[in-house]
Amino acid sequence: FGGTSVASAERYRHVAALLLQRGEATQVAVVSAMKGVTDALIALANLAARGDVQWRQAWQVLRERHHLAATELLGAQAAGLLAWLDGRFDQLAGLLEALAVIGGLPEEVLERVQGLGEVFSAQLLGGYFNQLGHACAVLDAREVLVVAHGELGVSVDWARSAANLASWRADNPQARVVVTGFVARDGQGRITTLGRNGSDYSGAIFAALFQAAELHIWTDVDGVLSADPRVVPEAVTLDTLSYDEACELAYFGAK
Ligand code: ASP
Ligand code: MG
Repeated sequence: FGGTSVASAERYRHVAALLLQRGEATQVAVVSAMKGVTDALIALANLAARGDVQWRQAWQVLRERHHLAATELLGAQAAGLLAWLDGRFDQLAGLLEALAVIGGLPEEVLERVQGLGEVFSAQLLGGYFNQLGHACAVLDAREVLVVAHGELGVSVDWARSAANLASWRADNPQARVVVTGFVARDGQGRITTLGRNGSDYSGAIFAALFQAAELHIWTDVDGVLSADPRVVPEAVTLDTLSYDEACELAYFGAK
């Protein structure tokens, strides 16, 4: 589920309803950060690194937005999730304070900060499922997914990731799992990301790791169009698309 699909408490409820409608024995949902949150986190890190004290206000706004979503989703039962969020946001504030002191933004810190939206988002959806009485495990992909950054993009260390997932699964056997998109670790154990808009890729990776029968990419558009509608307004939605055609479109940069 992309960021637009989880932009607010109301959207999380819709996502949960979509997932609950289906009858799979095991269901794994990979989520993006709430819409705009990744950009906001990157902006926060840059503000702090520049020593601009405005970061505190921006941090507060982001925290409030997550608080609001948690409260709207869990109502009177939100206390645990709010405390969890506060812990994460306090850690984030600590990092930002450190950036302000250093006066720079090391790549490793940026990777850590920009991936937090997915960590929050997965906890929101997972918390909501649990509150509805549907046992749900939340998988922080940084605990299992090992990747390497190369010339052709991000590649997965399948053997290590599968072994990590197997041991995580032994402790978390729930039929329903919510996974953070976008985030991972590198071979040295450092937190990293799959690159902007990487959550669809996370979905495909986790479909493979969980040996899923099907992968559904939910994004709030009507389908694949015959052309870029910003350039060709009369573009139409395609009824079908072969795998080869999809490959070619992707190769040539279609979103
Ligand atoms: N939240 C991340 C981004 O904005 C990943 C994603 O949305 O796919 O790039
Ligand atoms: Mg996105």
